[in-house]
Amino acid sequence: MNEEKSYSKRVEEEFKNYGKRVKELKASGKRVIGYLSPIVPVEIITASGAIPIRLKGDVYEAVTTANGYMETIVCPFVRNVFDSALKGKYGFLDGLVMPHLCDSMDRTADIWNYNLGLNYFHFLNVPHVTDEPSLDFFKEILSIFISSLERFLEREIREEDLRMAIEVHNRNRGAMRKLYELRKSEPPLINGVEMMKVLVATMGLPVGESISMVEGLIEEVSERKLISDGHKPRIMIIGDQIDYTSLSETIEDGGGIHVMDDISIGSKAYWADVEVDKDPLYAIAERYLRKLKLPTFVESSDTYSETVEKRFGYLKDFIEEFRVDGVILVTFRYCDPYGFEVPLIKGYIEDLGIPVLYMEDEYSASTIPRAKTRIEAFLEMLME
Ligand code: SF4
Repeated sequence: MNEEKSYSKRVEEEFKNYGKRVKELKASGKRVIGYLSPIVPVEIITASGAIPIRLKGDVYEAVTTANGYMETIVCPFVRNVFDSALKGKYGFLDGLVMPHLCDSMDRTADIWNYNLGLNYFHFLNVPHVTDEPSLDFFKEILSIFISSLERFLEREIREEDLRMAIEVHNRNRGAMRKLYELRKSEPPLINGVEMMKVLVATMGLPVGESISMVEGLIEEVSERKLISDGHKPRIMIIGDQIDYTSLSETIEDGGGIHVMDDISIGSKAYWADVEVDKDPLYAIAERYLRKLKLPTFVESSDTYSETVEKRFGYLKDFIEEFRVDGVILVTFRYCDPYGFEVPLIKGYIEDLGIPVLYMEDEYSASTIPRAKTRIEAFLEMLME
């Protein structure tokens, strides 16, 4: 079997059987801690010796059981993941970390804790402003998180463990950014559907295995010789946890090409590293509080336009570097943090001369036909 086949095949397998590898490791005696959102510092879980796995739902599975536990205003993503957990998809978890991110997470934390009955549950109280006192506060919160893991795992987490975990996660993020680089060409060496599968597959692997897979994939993808069949509209997707391929498939089946994202399992999770020459806990706190581009963090400046530029300036860089022709902005129903930003982000991107298609979605495959019609019309408009 040649290398190309083996890495692509592994991505496909991990994507289709999400969590399978971690389940195997659990059976061999490893401890597994689940988490929701890129706001949870995975370095700390890795430093503890446990394996972090980011939870996802299943857009092809109807939510049934969870509806009896959660208010209707809980976002469909949280509801779907909780439904999966209730139905036993994550029966291999030793514990779970929920962050203070949005009402759908905050207000359901106790429901998760009580009904899943895991041996370990931790609520991470992340502040939403990024000034110095908040950073100090968050550092304390991370110390509490570390102590709780130490008690649960009966193992000390030393400074050197943190440094090692920072190094390995930085390497993972660096490898992923290199893979993104291969999307800049025309045509991109890796298309949007493939990339989405990589992003999902890696979030369900121990970090060392993620690195090997992404580095191997970079080698094989770099050797591809693709022939351009003309310019296709280059699309960036913006949203929260889009961990399914139907959106990219619709874009690429409709004649466009998904070249970049600003989603929480994608560039949001991989663009910023933890600085290695600082106190490790401070550096982790700084990375998660100040460098993650999430709508829940308020980073004020002296003027309104400076604040907007600080919040969205990186999108301008993405648009230029990946030569984006159009943006598809997706929010999930009842998602306040992302929903509140829609007018601002849409206006910012349109002012750059880039059309935006905004869609409120359901984290469900049932909305694909509706989305398809709108996406095809958007692509047609871009092709005119
Ligand atoms: S989609 Fe919005 S409401 Fe749902 S978990 Fe993400 S941030 Fe929270």
